[in-house]
Amino acid sequence: MSTAPRICPLCEATCGLVLTLDGSRVTGARGDRDDVFSRGFICPKGAAFPQVDADPDRLRTPLVRENGELREASWEEAFDTIAARIRPLIEGHGPDALGIVLGNPNVHTMAGALYPPLLLRAAGTSNLFTASTLDQMPKHVSSGLLFGDPFAIPVPDLDRTDHLLVIGANPLDSNGSLCTAPDFPGRLAALRRRGGTLTVVDPRRTRTARLADRHLAPRPGTDALLLAALVHTLFAEGLADPGPLADRTEGVDQVRDAVREFTPEAVAPVCELDPGTIRAVARELAAAPTAAVYGRMGSSTVSHGTLANWLVDVLNVLTGNLDRPGGALFPRSATAPAPRPAGPGRGFLLGRRRSRVSGHPEAKGEFPLAALAEEIDTPGEGRIRALITIAANPVLSAPDGLRLDAALTSLDLMVCVDPYLNETTRHADVLLPPPPPSQSAHFDFAFNGFAVRDQVRHTPAAVPLEAGRMDECEIHARLILAVSGMHGAPPSAVDDLAVDTLVARAVTQPHSPAYGADPKEFAAGLTGENGAERRLDLMLRLGPYGLTLDELKAHPHGIDLGPLKPRLDEVLNTRTGRIELLPDPIAADLPRLRAALTAVPEPGTLQLVGRRHLRSNNSWLHNTPALTGGSNRCTLQVHPEDAERLRLADGGPARITGAGGELTAEVEVTDAVRPGVVSLPHGWGHDRPGTRLSVAAARPGVNVNQLLDGTLLDPLSGTAVLNGFPVEVAPLEPAPLL
Ligand code: SF4
Repeated sequence: MSTAPRICPLCEATCGLVLTLDGSRVTGARGDRDDVFSRGFICPKGAAFPQVDADPDRLRTPLVRENGELREASWEEAFDTIAARIRPLIEGHGPDALGIVLGNPNVHTMAGALYPPLLLRAAGTSNLFTASTLDQMPKHVSSGLLFGDPFAIPVPDLDRTDHLLVIGANPLDSNGSLCTAPDFPGRLAALRRRGGTLTVVDPRRTRTARLADRHLAPRPGTDALLLAALVHTLFAEGLADPGPLADRTEGVDQVRDAVREFTPEAVAPVCELDPGTIRAVARELAAAPTAAVYGRMGSSTVSHGTLANWLVDVLNVLTGNLDRPGGALFPRSATAPAPRPAGPGRGFLLGRRRSRVSGHPEAKGEFPLAALAEEIDTPGEGRIRALITIAANPVLSAPDGLRLDAALTSLDLMVCVDPYLNETTRHADVLLPPPPPSQSAHFDFAFNGFAVRDQVRHTPAAVPLEAGRMDECEIHARLILAVSGMHGAPPSAVDDLAVDTLVARAVTQPHSPAYGADPKEFAAGLTGENGAERRLDLMLRLGPYGLTLDELKAHPHGIDLGPLKPRLDEVLNTRTGRIELLPDPIAADLPRLRAALTAVPEPGTLQLVGRRHLRSNNSWLHNTPALTGGSNRCTLQVHPEDAERLRLADGGPARITGAGGELTAEVEVTDAVRPGVVSLPHGWGHDRPGTRLSVAAARPGVNVNQLLDGTLLDPLSGTAVLNGFPVEVAPLEPAPLL
C-alpha cells in the first residue's frame, strides 16, 4: 500500500487529493490537507475517484470500424487508418471538410490543453465547435469586448469580499465555475461569518440560495433585464462611482444613456420581481465596503447571455469593485505569458467569418455547437465530411441530438478521442481511448487562470501506464501527425515544433524573460520527462513568476503565490488601452433587450431551466455507481401550484413538449422551483444502442436538449439557449381531481 497526490480532474475546483494505492490500483481518495489551495477539501465526486478511474466500461484499446462494426485494433492500425483516410478528404474537399469538436473534459487534462490548438493549426479548418457555446462563451465575448482579451475573466475575491451577488450560479452543487475555489461552500460560510452578505438570484431555491441573506427568484431568462435595472438604479441614485477606474474606462456616460429605459418599474413585470427589491439590491451593492457580482450558467445560456455577462462586469466597474481586493480581480496564472507593457492592444473582433449554412458569426474562432448538425447534413460546397471529436458527447450536450445523431451517420470519417463508447462515439470509425486519470500527470492550464487565489500545482502520474495503453499526450501528438500528413514521424516532433515556435517568439519580445537569449540554448535548458512536460516547463519559465517544472516537482502539494492582486494594466488589450464599457456589438444588441421589456408571457406559460447535481458533471459521471441515486435523478421538478393546475402527480410520468421534440419524465413536485418554472437536468438520455455505459444505461433518464431545435441562440456568442425556454407539460395520465 502506498499513497500519491493527484489533483482532482472532476470539476473546476481542482482539489488536491491523496490517492491510496494497492500496487497500481487506486483503492481510495481523501482530501490532501497539505494542498496549498484546497487544504483537505473533498466532495463526493472526488471521493469516487477510484471508481471513476477503474470503471470497467472504459475502453482499453482502440476501436476501428470494419464492415459496419467496431472491433478492437492495435494503436498502429488505428493511426494507419486515420492517416490513410483523413488526408485525401482534406486534400480533395479543402480543410473545412474537417470539423473538430472539443468537449468540456478537455480543460481538465494536460493533453486537452496543450494539443488541440496544434491540431487546429495542422488541420487548417475553420470549423471548430466546442462546449463553450453550450456554456461560457458569453463571458469570453463580454471580456473580449470590455478588456480586449476573451480570457481576461475577473473572479470574485471570495475570501475577502464583503458582499457577493451571485446570479444564475449554484456553487454549492457545482463547486464553482469560472471561479476555481476548492471548498466553495466553506468560503461562502466564511463570508457570512465575517459579517458579509450573500445575495442569490435564481429561479430555483438551490442549496446556494438557501444559504443567502437574500434570494430573488426572477422569471428565467430575464437576468439581463434585472442587471440593467441595477445599473440604471446606480446612475439614477448617484451611486455609480468607478473610483480609480474612472481614468481607465471609456463609455460610462454612454452606458448611463443606454440603460435609461430599464427602470426597476419597467423590468419588474417581466422579471416578476418587486421594483423596491431591485433598488435595495443595487443600494446594498453600492454601499458595501467591497463587493463582487458573479454570474454563471443560468445567466449565460439564455437569449441575452452576452448582455447579462457584460452587465455583470459593468456593475463591478461602476461600483469601483473591479480590480480591487474584495471585489472582482484577474488571477495571474503561472503559465500565462509574461505581461506586455501597458497600453493599446490588438482588441477583440467578433464575426470574422460566418458559418456556411446559417451564417452564424464566429466567436473566439468557434461556430455554435448547435449548428454542427446542419453543417454536416446540409449538402453543398464546404460541407463537413469528416469529424474529430475529443472528449465530447454533443449528441447529448447540444440541442436536437436526434438530428446530430442522424447526421453523424453520413460522415465519411469520424475519429474520436474518448475513454467511452457513448452516444456520440458509437458513430466513430476510429476510437482512441486515453488512459484512466491515475495514469496521467496533471496540471491545470485553464483553471489557474480563474482561481480565487494565485497558486500553482502539478501532480505526476500516480501509477505507471498500463501495458497496451498509450499516453494521452502521445495520442494527441500522433493524431496531429496523421492530420498534417506526417504520419510515422516521432510524436516528439510535435512538441519540438511547439517549443521552437514559442521560444523563437519569446526571444524577440522585450518583456519576455527569454528576450535576447539564444533560442537553441534556451530550448536545450528545458527539463521534463516528455514533450508535454518540456512545454509546461517552458510556459512556467516564460510566465510571470519565472518558475520551473523542477521547482514545482519539489513542492508536491503546490506553491502558494498569494491572494489575488490588482493587475488591470497587465490585462487590458483593447485598442484604446482602456476598459471599453459600451462596445459597439453590445450597443447594437441592446434594442433586442429593450424589446424584451414588453415580452410578458401569457399566464400559465411554463419555462424550463436545467439544474446541476453535486454528484454529477454534465454527462461524464453517470456511469459511476457511487455517484448515482440520491438527489442525482433525472426528474422534472414542478411547483405544487403548477402540478395541481396541470393535474401532475408526484412520481408520475409527464409529457414535456418543446420546439425540438417531446420527452417523458418522472414528475417531482417541489416548491424549490418557482411557479411557472420546471427543471430538468442535462447530460441524460443514455438509452441508445451500441454504447458501452452499463451503469448509465440502467438509469438512462431523458435528454433535455431534445426539447430544443437548435435555433434559439444568443446572437453575439452563438451560445445555445438551454435555460428559460418555453415548454408545455401534461400528464400522461392526469391525476384524479381532488
Ligand atoms: S469539488 Fe471538484 S475538484 Fe474538488 S473533489 Fe469535488 S469534484 Fe474534485
